[in-house]
Amino acid sequence: MSIAQHLEEVRQRIAKAAHDASREASSVELLAVSKTFPADDVRAAFDAGQRKFGENYVQESIAKIADLADLRSQIEWHFIGPLQSNKTKVVAEQFDWVHSVDRLKIAERLSAQRPDGAPALNVCIQVNVSGEASKSGVEPDEAAALAHAVAALPGLRLRGLMAIPEPADTLDAQRVPHARLRELMHALRVDGLDLDTLSMGMSADLEAAVLEGATMVRIGTAIFGARTYAH
Ligand SMILES: *Cc1c(COP(=O)(O)O)cnc(C)c1O
Repeated sequence: MSIAQHLEEVRQRIAKAAHDASREASSVELLAVSKTFPADDVRAAFDAGQRKFGENYVQESIAKIADLADLRSQIEWHFIGPLQSNKTKVVAEQFDWVHSVDRLKIAERLSAQRPDGAPALNVCIQVNVSGEASKSGVEPDEAAALAHAVAALPGLRLRGLMAIPEPADTLDAQRVPHARLRELMHALRVDGLDLDTLSMGMSADLEAAVLEGATMVRIGTAIFGARTYAH
């Protein structure tokens, strides 16, 4: 199947999940995760109507954004991978969103390095909702303090929360960490933060995420195929 056909399948999955959750399909945005795939694959997805793309690796993404410079004004680039402090500058310069902010130092650098005249960089705080030591993300009980500090930075616009839950086999088990992230965001909104983005759901757990309120699902494999991780 072509990338265009895979995209259509994913859009159908989102529409069905939204329907099952009594939500508008348009309330769930699709981020196509193109990490490890070449610029030509991004172009194929673009030609099939996709406009938001997610990348994980700084070096790879900067080369890809340059290859696709002719589409730059029409594509929204989202950085979703782990971010080292020595790599924040190019990310602040080149991307529209960063989903993986998990400590204040990274947020401060992104804010300071956002070019003058550029709109504020949209950011989400990544939360470790599965409690696995290996996964990145701020601990849930530290999320509120970090969110308030990030919201005060002038170069950033805090949009919401992001999570990469531990894989689980059943829909019910998949829903648990997604519900946790939804509840965390609700608490922050009650607390006065103006947040609109719940970035959660990947190829294997998109339905659970949409049932629990995801507003942006990040889908790689189901659109571009299996990755070989040649990094
Ligand atoms: C790779 C990745 C995805 C996409 O995962 P798939 O299972 O391929 O859909 C989503 N979010 C993040 C943060 C990723 O690193």
